[in-house]
Amino acid sequence: MDTDWMADGLCRSCPPSVFFPSDGVGVEVARRICADCPVREPCLEYALRNGVDHGVWGGASERERRRIARQRRLAAASSH
Ligand code: SF4
Repeated sequence: MDTDWMADGLCRSCPPSVFFPSDGVGVEVARRICADCPVREPCLEYALRNGVDHGVWGGASERERRRIARQRRLAAASSH
């Protein structure tokens, strides 16, 4: 999968620990950075397609990505 977008991620200038928060406050800090990131969409897709289960990617926490993945599975199942 294409990873060229990573070079444009705002998180490149942040310590990695910011995107692997240990609590809800930390998640919010990371999400605010992602909100202004120009590669938010490919970042989120990358994490969803690769089943990345740690950290904040594309503005979504682990829990939010699980929810998005579940919704997509349900939508795919109901369209068959
Ligand atoms: S969306 Fe967030 S995690 Fe993804 S590249 Fe941008 S700043 Fe980094």
